[in-house]
Amino acid sequence: MTQLTFYNSLSHWPEEFKPIEEGKVGLYTCGPTVYNFAHIGNFRCYMFEDLLKRTLLYFGYNVKHVMNLTDVDDKTIRGSQAAKMPLTEFTQQYKDAFFKDIATLRIIPADIYPAATDHIPEMIALIQRLFDLGIAYQAEDKSVYFSIAKWPKYGQLMKIDRDQMRVGVRIKMDEYAKESVADFALWKAYDEADGDVAWDSPWGKGRPGWHIECSAMSGKYLGKTFDMHCGGIDNMFPHHEDEIAQSEAANGCKFVNYWLHCAHLMVDGQKMSKSLGNFFTLRDILAKGYSGREIRWVLIGAHYRQSLNFSFKALDDARVALQRIDAVLLRLKELSTAADAGEAEVKAMIEATDAKFADSLAEDLNISGALAAIFDFIRDLNRAMDAGNLSGKAAQAALKAFEHYDTVLAVCQPDADAGVPAEVQALAEERQAARKAKNYARADEIRKQLDAEGWVIEDTPKGPRVKRK
Ligand code: AMP
Ligand code: ZN
Repeated sequence: MTQLTFYNSLSHWPEEFKPIEEGKVGLYTCGPTVYNFAHIGNFRCYMFEDLLKRTLLYFGYNVKHVMNLTDVDDKTIRGSQAAKMPLTEFTQQYKDAFFKDIATLRIIPADIYPAATDHIPEMIALIQRLFDLGIAYQAEDKSVYFSIAKWPKYGQLMKIDRDQMRVGVRIKMDEYAKESVADFALWKAYDEADGDVAWDSPWGKGRPGWHIECSAMSGKYLGKTFDMHCGGIDNMFPHHEDEIAQSEAANGCKFVNYWLHCAHLMVDGQKMSKSLGNFFTLRDILAKGYSGREIRWVLIGAHYRQSLNFSFKALDDARVALQRIDAVLLRLKELSTAADAGEAEVKAMIEATDAKFADSLAEDLNISGALAAIFDFIRDLNRAMDAGNLSGKAAQAALKAFEHYDTVLAVCQPDADAGVPAEVQALAEERQAARKAKNYARADEIRKQLDAEGWVIEDTPKGPRVKRK
């Protein structure tokens, strides 16, 4: 098996990857808080995790992937109250949207999507263990906190200096800055503001903190110690730091061997985020006529540890790059039924591409190297086809090679009808109705209008299909 190397946030160093069990990987990735549509900054993170998973699969690993759905926290409760909907109904619509979006982006679904609200007993059991060990305590406000004074190993991921810690100070909010490191909430006592969202526990009515859910659910599905845990860099503190503390304190063993974090998707130099309001959801971008494949191309294109600036120019560039791929694939398909020529040359090209593609990905997911290998391959194939020295079996072999690379990239198949804005689709339907009504003048006028806006209508046996010119 090829040796893979990943930059481990725990050691701040590239490390050779050695799974606990030969050939198998347990992977946990922090999932969405389902109170709204995920934005493409969130999807940058899920896309990096998809690239990681597809790379592990490419190298022959068997991956067990768990991603949680945070369906109870301050944001989901507030959102459901504002929408005057029960919490489960409110979050369900965003769970559904999330699954639809990942399909559009060709992200391979996780094997298990545990929801926080389905795992309250597991969380209570974990808190109970921390309580029995004297590491968790119930404060005057009836909430249960993790005592960082009782856990000297606190701060491994962020290398927090113990002198900075405010021993005995408590913080109830799930999100806080490194400067305010303090005892954090495991179980939040019921507050009237939570409405009807509450569960019984040995410490009274309440609800779990955010961090405990990932410790409880990863332990349940992947074991006390597992291979990999990922998220965005903003999750490193406090979320992942607190996960490590809870899990290692309760289980008495190492929690995760490799921590991988991706850098942010930025807009004009600032992190794309809901709170700054500088975000685009996937729907926003699809409505502008871009496809899931084009968005995927932009999001996987930069190395995961480098911040990536989002722009519509990048999406336009993606379209051009993908057209080059589509064009070479079409040419190869056309030549694949012709007489055989250039087999030995193509074999050598594939060997060179295989090596560069694999070596690049094996080195901490060096996507630029992997894509450079693909574009060198395209250039060499085009040259050979221009010279009339590539057809039949050679073309078939090249197509097979693309299929293999595409198990990682997932960009070679064009989107069916994705990316057609609703107005354009409506015009196409109006044209169809006009034609049925024999109003050919109107039908023609619409065709011209669509043409001017960059769309063509193809009449297929299943009816008209709108495509970008
Ligand atoms: P949230 O729903 O806010 O918990 O975020 C879900 C995931 O998206 C987390 O792993 C975050 O680190 C990640 N994330 C949020 N904003 C961005 C961004 N602008 N760029 C990359 N990842 C992000
Ligand atoms: Zn998490």
